[in-house]
Amino acid sequence: MTTPAVPRRCCLCLRCRTALFAGGVCDCGGTPQVACFEVPAEREAIVEACWGSVAEREQVRRIAQRGQRRVLATSMGSFSLGGTVAYGLAGLGPGVLVWGMLGSLTGGMLARHKGIRERKAPRGAEALPVVGDVSLRGTVVGEHHLVSPASAELCLAYSLELRVLAGDGERVMYRDAVTCGFVAELGTGEMVQVPAGRLRFADEAPEILDVDNLELEAYIDDIDPHRMPSEELYPLHFNLVREEVLFSGDEVELGGTFERETRAKNSAALYRDAAESHLRPVGVPVVRRLR
Ligand SMILES: [Zn+2]
Repeated sequence: MTTPAVPRRCCLCLRCRTALFAGGVCDCGGTPQVACFEVPAEREAIVEACWGSVAEREQVRRIAQRGQRRVLATSMGSFSLGGTVAYGLAGLGPGVLVWGMLGSLTGGMLARHKGIRERKAPRGAEALPVVGDVSLRGTVVGEHHLVSPASAELCLAYSLELRVLAGDGERVMYRDAVTCGFVAELGTGEMVQVPAGRLRFADEAPEILDVDNLELEAYIDDIDPHRMPSEELYPLHFNLVREEVLFSGDEVELGGTFERETRAKNSAALYRDAAESHLRPVGVPVVRRLR
C-alpha cells in the first residue's frame, strides 16, 4: 500500500500561526494573511509578525545584550565579594577560591534570571475561533503513516503547538495539525472518511516534557529551511511544546461540516446491493480525542 501523502506545510497564517500547505487558505476567519517560509520577503513578514519591526527587533537584541553584560559583571562582583568574606573569616587559603566561585555562580544566576524577565517576549498568535458542535462520536481506524514531531510517535494524526512562556502566560508561536487519513466508525453504524490533510483539535494538547529533540529539529528545518544558525529572533522560537497524537482505536468526537458521499460497492453488484455511503468532511474537520 502506498503511503498517503500529507503535503508539506511551507506557509503560515500570520493571524493564528497555523501551518498551511502551499496556496492554502486559513480557516480562522477574518482577512487572510498568509506568508510562505520559502519566499524571502514573506519570511520577513513572518519574522515581523513574531518579533515586530526591524527597530523593535533591534531593541530586543539590545535588551538581550545588556542582560549578558549584567550576568558577567554581577558574576565578577560576586566573586570578589565571596572571596573577601572568606578572607575576612579565615585568611588566605583555598576557602577564598571556593567562596569566590560560589558567589560568582549565585550572582550570575540571579542576574540571568533578571535578564530573562526583562527580555522582550515575541508576539503570540491570535486566538482561534470558538469550535462549534463536535458530537459525531466514534472510533478511528487506519494505518499509522505519520511520525509526531515532538514525541516521535507513529500515529494517524497529530497536533503540535510551539509556545513561549512569557510573563502573562503562554503565547502560541506556531500550530500544525494533520492526518494521513482515517475512517471514523460512528456509533450509529455510519462511517466518516477523513482524507489526508489538515485537522483542528478541539482541546488544548498536553505539554510534552520528554521532547525528541532530533525529530523536532528535523521537523522545524523542513518547515523553515532558510533559518540561519546565527539568527537570534527566528519565527519558530519556543520554550514549551504541546502535542496531541491520535492512534487507531482511539475514541473521538468529530465536528465541522460533512457531506454524504455515495458510491456503488462494485458495478457487478449494483443491482443486488445497496449503494455504500459515508460522510466526508467539507473543509477542515475538528477532532476531540476522548480519554
Ligand atoms: Zn489563521
